[in-house]
Amino acid sequence: MYFCIIASITPCSFSLLSTSIIFITHDLGVIAEVCDDVVVMYGGMVMEKGSVNDIFYNPQHPYTKGLHRSIPKVTKGKSRLIPIEGSPPDLMNPPKGCPFSSRCPHAMEVCMEKPAPAFIVSETQQSACWLQHPESPKVVGYTKSKEVI
Ligand code: SF4
Repeated sequence: MYFCIIASITPCSFSLLSTSIIFITHDLGVIAEVCDDVVVMYGGMVMEKGSVNDIFYNPQHPYTKGLHRSIPKVTKGKSRLIPIEGSPPDLMNPPKGCPFSSRCPHAMEVCMEKPAPAFIVSETQQSACWLQHPESPKVVGYTKSKEVI
């Protein structure tokens, strides 16, 4: 698999010891229950970083949003999951631009040319997506940002 979610957990007892635990998992349910901070990776690159609330309630990267759509919702009754179309990139021959570009419904020309920098969405959240660039087309659900890391 070429994608993963890394999440760190720092409950009080760990904070007192100045230590933390890192989980590497695809299970968003586990992350929601036990983690404070989340790093979403795809194709070997960081796509999005944020607090657990940022990632679950205000995801800003199309890959993170795609992951959310593909989780079964027990409260919604019987409904079809929406998978992320396409396949992960060949990391022996990685794409020049954004690793998610071949599967992204919002891919633009710039996405094929170079990976996006990490745009600062808020004090706690960053997203490596050209949709955050102030001159990119407006897409509902994505915040613009002028600041990059
Ligand atoms: S940078 Fe482009 S291809 Fe990559 S996730 Fe954002 S819009 Fe999609």
